[in-house]
Amino acid sequence: MKKYILPVVMLVIFETVAVTLWLTKNNLFYLINFSYIGMSVSLGMFLFVRKYKYARRIVQLLVGSYMLIYLGLICNENMQIEGFWYYLFTGVFEAATIHYAVAKIFGPLIFGRGWCGFACWTAMVLDFLPYKIPKAPRKKIGWIRYITFALSVIFVAALFLSHVGNIEKIMFWAFIIGNVLYYIVGIALAFIFKDNRAFCKYVCPITVFLKPMSYFSLFRIKCDKSKCVSCGKCERVCPMNVKITDNSRKRLNGTECILCMECTRACPKDAL
Ligand code: SF4
Ligand code: SF4
Ligand code: SF4
Repeated sequence: MKKYILPVVMLVIFETVAVTLWLTKNNLFYLINFSYIGMSVSLGMFLFVRKYKYARRIVQLLVGSYMLIYLGLICNENMQIEGFWYYLFTGVFEAATIHYAVAKIFGPLIFGRGWCGFACWTAMVLDFLPYKIPKAPRKKIGWIRYITFALSVIFVAALFLSHVGNIEKIMFWAFIIGNVLYYIVGIALAFIFKDNRAFCKYVCPITVFLKPMSYFSLFRIKCDKSKCVSCGKCERVCPMNVKITDNSRKRLNGTECILCMECTRACPKDAL
């Protein structure tokens, strides 16, 4: 039973957030929203423990499509980074700001970049592409993320400063156009660099939050040196080029780990 502790802990964490927000904000939506996400994540972890091959993909599809289609397209919540700035500038602590606080800013202190491995609707599509394992060495163009990050702030600030009307409608269209752009760029980069996660590595503005916070992550993949035979299989299957066998927090690409667990599955010695 010990191996099922993690799915239960994850469910408890999400339910605590769900109930706290439900009661403090007096809004049933938070209870349903975070319970659904918590149950999806726990289900994925449970299936992973049972060694089901597609456990992570199931969670990705359950959570990613819920956020993209239900929250984004049906409820008109801009859950992209522009939406976060928008609600932050208006001083509204609602869906997008709470989502960023939980999944992308403070949550990574506990579960690292679990968001990127299990919930992101952009990666949900990119992970269907053929280059699950990068076929080319990593490029030194990660600075692009700071440009896209700055552009997202400038875009929203410009909307406020120019006092345009119907800003809610603009944010809704910004969500749709932004997502289409992410998919086009993400798919193009995947084929150009032969790497499904090229967009995550070089372009995604959210990594400006995710990377520094996940540096301190409580959950991280560690290598049991007494079992490891240095076969290198784990690093060959890693989609994010993490130097997994180095246990230090400063390991190469350590803040890129998306907790996909491919390395643990590949290890013949159960050392991870
Ligand atoms: S890096 Fe960005 S696009 Fe990639 S999975 Fe994370 S949030 Fe999604
Ligand atoms: S393969 Fe391992 S180290 Fe690489 S991203 Fe997945 S969990 Fe992290
Ligand atoms: S796959 Fe396992 S045994 Fe091989 S290098 Fe990685 S941790 Fe060590």
